[in-house]
Amino acid sequence: MDSAEENLKLILAKKYPGLVVECDCTNPKTILIRGVMSSSASRWLRLKLLVPNYPHLNKFQLYVQHQLEYKCYTSHNLPVHDNWNVEDLLANLWELMPGGTIKDVIKVTSRPKSNIYEEILELHQPLDYHLQLNDSCTRIRFSRFAEMDQHFFELELPTLRLLEHSLPDCVPLATMLSKNVRCLRDALDLYQKLLEDLRPFYDTFMDIDELCHVLQPSPITTKDNSRVFPLKERVYLKVVIADPLAYQASMSLQIIGPTEEVAQLRHKLNDGLANWDTELDMHKNLLRVFDLCYFPMPDMSENHKDKGQEQDQDEHCNICFVYRLDNGQVPLVSCDNARCVLKCHAACLKEWFNTLMDGKTFLEVSFGMCPFCKAKLSTSFAALLDD
Ligand SMILES: [Zn+2]
Ligand SMILES: [Zn+2]
Repeated sequence: MDSAEENLKLILAKKYPGLVVECDCTNPKTILIRGVMSSSASRWLRLKLLVPNYPHLNKFQLYVQHQLEYKCYTSHNLPVHDNWNVEDLLANLWELMPGGTIKDVIKVTSRPKSNIYEEILELHQPLDYHLQLNDSCTRIRFSRFAEMDQHFFELELPTLRLLEHSLPDCVPLATMLSKNVRCLRDALDLYQKLLEDLRPFYDTFMDIDELCHVLQPSPITTKDNSRVFPLKERVYLKVVIADPLAYQASMSLQIIGPTEEVAQLRHKLNDGLANWDTELDMHKNLLRVFDLCYFPMPDMSENHKDKGQEQDQDEHCNICFVYRLDNGQVPLVSCDNARCVLKCHAACLKEWFNTLMDGKTFLEVSFGMCPFCKAKLSTSFAALLDD
């Protein structure tokens, strides 16, 4: 890395701590700056800035998140000066952005009330949400939001410190509240705005939860941003949405199963991703990608009904002999030998190998062979270990 880039990193760290710079190793002139930038007025922008001829600004592409979509800006629709560099662009960005693009979620508008308990009385709106106070009036809980009735959040009074909430943990709610909220009304507004912004994220998972046999997580909560469900016999799909506020941009898909099948399906997936139809929901897109009419669902025929529950005898983990672990994991790991029917939990396999070979890297060594038949284990199962 040359000194100009080192310098840029320093500037970003000092002035824009929410932004990071990435370099393209194949092309040393190309850099990507991405992250969140805030103004002194407590407003923020999520952006990606691609500079192909760094340190020159020419041919730059700036993507700014508006609601859930990124809008692209170049020198054609942004009035930048010819002699500007990256730093100048960032310094003037707030003035250049058209008014509507700036995320106004956290714009501080209200003045703090002199007495927080006075404010609580004003916030009583039983049609929109449920409001509860504990006996000593030190905790307030908002819950049962209209149309989003599983959601809640709880604050300490009078400090407004966040105690509990129902949003995914990757949404930095505590930081947002502590930075931008001066009264209870602000906190409630922020939370309701976030619920609205997260609606597409929850809608995306709604069809998956209904029409796929979601195995993990279990139970599914409003905090979960991933799903694992069967794609076919012994093969599973793991969907992760890293940033629920930009769900289409941050979605990742992993195929988990025996090596050969995973390799074949990955080809399909790569082709399918190129033809992803943003008009359709994720469930329909995935069906198109894998050329399916539906995803496998549990067998509800007469034979299986009697056994009840999900604990089918042959579904047990062959290491710990349990079906579902306390953390919600089910046995999904099988080996490349199609005749070996044994399955186990990723966590159990890890533990098993740890006792056999201490000190060696789990992913390199442990996913070497099946503990039962010695056939190869696919490295795709590593994706299950983050859960
Ligand atoms: Zn187990
Ligand atoms: Zn095996």
